[in-house]
Amino acid sequence: MSKVRDVYTFDDLKNWSGATGDLDRPARLSVFGDPVKHSRSPQMHNPALEAAGINCEYVRLHIQPDELAEALNLLKENDFIGTNVTIPHKGGVHDAVDEMTEVARRIGAVNTVAVDGDQLLGHNTDAPGLKKAIREEFSMDLSDLRIMIVGAGGGAGKAAAVQCAMDHCERLVLVNRTVEKAEALAEELHDLVTDPDKLEGPADRLVAIPWESEAMEREMENVDLIINATSVGMKRTDPEVVPASLIEPHHLVYDMVYAPARTRLIADAEEAGAKAANGLSMLLWQGVLAFEFWFDSAAPAEAMRKGLLESLG
Ligand code: NAP
Repeated sequence: MSKVRDVYTFDDLKNWSGATGDLDRPARLSVFGDPVKHSRSPQMHNPALEAAGINCEYVRLHIQPDELAEALNLLKENDFIGTNVTIPHKGGVHDAVDEMTEVARRIGAVNTVAVDGDQLLGHNTDAPGLKKAIREEFSMDLSDLRIMIVGAGGGAGKAAAVQCAMDHCERLVLVNRTVEKAEALAEELHDLVTDPDKLEGPADRLVAIPWESEAMEREMENVDLIINATSVGMKRTDPEVVPASLIEPHHLVYDMVYAPARTRLIADAEEAGAKAANGLSMLLWQGVLAFEFWFDSAAPAEAMRKGLLESLG
């Protein structure tokens, strides 16, 4: 028996039984990424597989963009159950799968693939994972909230915005440094957000604004939930995502960043008396939903949470 390696490569995948045939459990689930060494998905999914009594190992696969199409085909040949997909492959996999869920189609990105015979089925669990995380952290549903998403020009921001729009949230404010990207997204989501059954409030239901204090200040009064979907906050020297002076006690603040656990945004929110949470719960719930997409049965979420927390020390 050999030890599971931290990372496998495309060459390994081409000779999968040679590379992994003597593992205790057959490697039939993975995460594709470039880079991929940082991924905590194995520490979350392997305890879940064990808890569910499924004889399968989840591994990291370093796949480069020019290897993606063939790597997806090799999943079928090597009897994989599926794979997760991380940066930079979410868009490429969206273009390569045979079928996908509505949320993945609307986002234009896939983070979970299930192998079904010779078909590849795509899903995006980041978006419903965020929805579950908000429910868990704040006991609120997206549909009842007026939501500001900072970083609406990136992949995570788009996933969040699509989920909020699909849930017909009360209001959606899209904020981005490159405002044109937020405006384009607002245009895309316009029909989805407009719900004839909901009364119009005092402020426009869908707006796109630049990442500037004055523009954000004008919206704050009509916002309940602030979501950070930028990578700002990962470094000590990072600027403020939202000026601290704009955060009020009635706000709920969700930072998709989870390392460090207490970002500057979370510290500012707590100091202002607002409720705040980091992105660990989203990471957990996107994993839970991926597991359920593969196995069509409830995932052992607490085993996954424990594995994730242990991986973060
Ligand atoms: P991305 O595609 O690179 O998007 C980055 C977004 O952040 C863009 O809107 C970008 O604005 C904005 N941005 C980046 N640097 C900025 C800066 N210095 N000032 C202002 N805006 C800035 O990244 P992503 O994949 O969407 O991920 C975004 C964050 O979400 C990352 O921290 C990631 O780790 C996190 N995430 C967490 C989870 C989870 O499960 N918790 C899941 C997915 C992602 P421009 O358009 O102007 O460039």
